[in-house]
This record gives sequence, structure tokens and C-alpha cells, in this order.
Amino acid sequence: MYIARILEKEGVPFQTVEPSPGRINLVARLEGTKAKRPFLLNAHLDVVPAEREKWRHNPFGAVVEDGYLYGRGTLDMKQMAAMALGILVTLKREGTKPPRDLIVAFVADEEAGCGMGSAYLVARNPDWVDSEFGLTEGGGFVLPILGKTFVTVCVAEKGVLWVRLHASGKPGHASVPTPESATSLLVRTLGSLLNLPLPLALTPPMRAFFTTLGKKGQSPWQARAFIRAMLRTKGLERRLLPLTLKKGPDSHALAAMLRNTIALTRLEAGVKENVIPSSARADLDCRLLPGETSGPFLETLKACIPEEDREYVRFEVLQDQGASASPAESPLYRAIGKTIEHYLPESGPIPFLTPGFTDAHHYRKIGMTMYGFIPMEASSGTEFVRLIHGHDERISLKNVDFGATVLMALTKRILFEV
Ligand SMILES: [Zn+2]
Repeated sequence: MYIARILEKEGVPFQTVEPSPGRINLVARLEGTKAKRPFLLNAHLDVVPAEREKWRHNPFGAVVEDGYLYGRGTLDMKQMAAMALGILVTLKREGTKPPRDLIVAFVADEEAGCGMGSAYLVARNPDWVDSEFGLTEGGGFVLPILGKTFVTVCVAEKGVLWVRLHASGKPGHASVPTPESATSLLVRTLGSLLNLPLPLALTPPMRAFFTTLGKKGQSPWQARAFIRAMLRTKGLERRLLPLTLKKGPDSHALAAMLRNTIALTRLEAGVKENVIPSSARADLDCRLLPGETSGPFLETLKACIPEEDREYVRFEVLQDQGASASPAESPLYRAIGKTIEHYLPESGPIPFLTPGFTDAHHYRKIGMTMYGFIPMEASSGTEFVRLIHGHDERISLKNVDFGATVLMALTKRILFEV
């Protein structure tokens, strides 16, 4: 393994575990005086597949062109792996002994649910990773709002509920269709399910997000007045709704942070045009807000099956992981704020909730304060988000440089001063 070779050469101690073939986790530790609990940097090494023919360059070729490094994982999240490795080696060479150990976890399997990665480590080898504070992906990018720029600190993430819908019906010749076919049954349930009203709610992380926006000096006064009124009064739905209904990716993202969501991601039925299939299925990826549990939500989904179809349609839960959050106020948050103040004086930190899922979920289970924070320089905006899991994923060399510098400064601040 590439990382192991470098660490061996530099004399940085590490341990590895391979829960299944090819799924290696490597955890390195730079020893401090142990006066305080460790600080952890986490990077998952696995990536999602890439459609080679749709890319400008080989997705696994690490080609540099016009100041950008092209490659699957350059933004999700091998940049963090490279930065963390650089920090480990640099601090080792400097030979200092901070009050905290620095742990760097290079983990497998995040894109497949973490079972062979961070979830495995937390369950089987918690002492390898147990830390007071930790950072992983999910934030650190610059968000322009109301004429100001903010640097996102991801303090919470939604829960994941994957559900499979099975419908079984009468097969037969397609020249004589019946309403009891599996496909008709499935479509009837999906019809009402995808039209479910999903109410907006302001969870603590998003309340912290708007509270930051509403602070003096953070936004124009009209916007601050609006936000303060929104946080204070009832009728939240009426006030928030217009913000989420505008067309465009930002509104969709905001809506996903303020309500439970249901995405229909897979449909399967049939083998031939003139054969009515006896079964049909649909997969739903539902994401639940912090504070929500899957039980009542599943009941809402089940209520979408028309009374007369109940016998023939059933739900199967494929994955159920609750939402997770760390406090939006902490010594780690303040350390990030001070570091941002230095490197991006025009911006301030803003806590936020990601609709996605990260390794932070598992680390929080053992009481760690975990944030999503990989620093990106100001001009990168939010455009890069569509490149993650997309075609031509790439990172600017400027961002690699900036991220490494800021993360190094932040790591030193946490190791020595917090
Ligand atoms: Zn990722």
C-alpha cells in the first residue's frame, strides 16, 4: 500500500486491518504527551465508479491540465488523504511532542455504507481511533449568501433509510391487462408516495445556520431582520417555503436540509413487452432529519398503499441509520473559526447540515465531536459539488495548496492550543 510505504520510510507508526479482501484500513498515530485526548483526521480511500468514456482524461490517470488535477476521488476525498499524509510526515520530521496524539485514519468502504471501514473500526478497534475531536469530509467550502461568504462547517448529517417496495400480482398475456398486475400495484403506491407532503422543519443545526446569518455584520440588515423574525415566530412553513421553491440547485439543497426526502432510485419489473410480470420492485432512498426516527416515517410510507392493495405490496428495509450531529458550539468550532479568520479574513464559519452521509456518523457513536471540514479556497464557490460522483472530477492545484496549508495550521492549533 502506497501510504504504508511512505509511513514506514518516515518512521510513523501505524496499524492495519482488512475486514474483507481489498478493504484495508490503515490508522497512523503520531504520539504526543497524552496530556489531552487525541485529534483525528479521517479520509476514506474508496471511490465510486467512473464512466471512462464520458471523461476528458483517464479517471484513474491523475492527469494535470490547466492547473487542475483530474481523477476520481480528487474531491471525494483523496485530497484529504494526501493532505493528512503530508501533515503526518511534516510533524514527524519536526519532531515536536504536542499535548495530544494526532491520529490519521485512512478507511475503506465509505461509499458502500462504512461496514468494512469506520463502522468496523469503531465497533472492533475503538481505541485505535478514539479522539476528542475529529475532521472528515462534508464542509470546508465557501458558501456565498446575501453578498457575504461563509465557510461551511458540517456539524450534522441526515439519517439514511433505504427501502425496497415489493409488489406481486397476476401474470399473464399483455393483450389482456388487469389492474391487479404487479406493475399497476407498484405504480399506484408510488403515485401517492411520491406526492406525500413532506413538511419543513428547523432542526438545531439549521437553526444554528440561520442564527449565524442573522448576526450583526453577517448579512444586510433587511436579511437579518427577516431571519430573526423567521427564527422567532410561528408559521415557519409559510416563511421557509418560498426559499425552497425557487428553481435551481441551491433551493433543492436548502429544501433537503429542511425536510425529510424520498428519492426513487431504482425500478425493476418485466422481461418482455407482451408479458405481464408477476413481480415488480422499487428502491427508495429516504433521508431523515435529525430528531426523526424511521418507525413513524415507515408508517407514513405504508399508508400510501391503497387499502385494497395492502395484501400485495410490502416494504423491506435495506438500510436504517439515524441522523447524527455534534454540537455547533465547541472548542473545535472556535479553532476552525480562528483559522478561517486568518486565511479567509472576508469570511466567517457557518454551521450546517449535510443531506449526505459520511464516516462522521460512526465516530460520533463513540462520543467524538466530528465535523466535516476540508478547507477550499474562496474562488472555488460551490460549483465543485456537481463534480463529486460526476464526470471529470477534478481539484485545482491552488486548492490542494490552500487546503494543505490551512489544514496544517488548524491541526497545529488543535494539537498545541485547544
Ligand atoms: Zn466521500
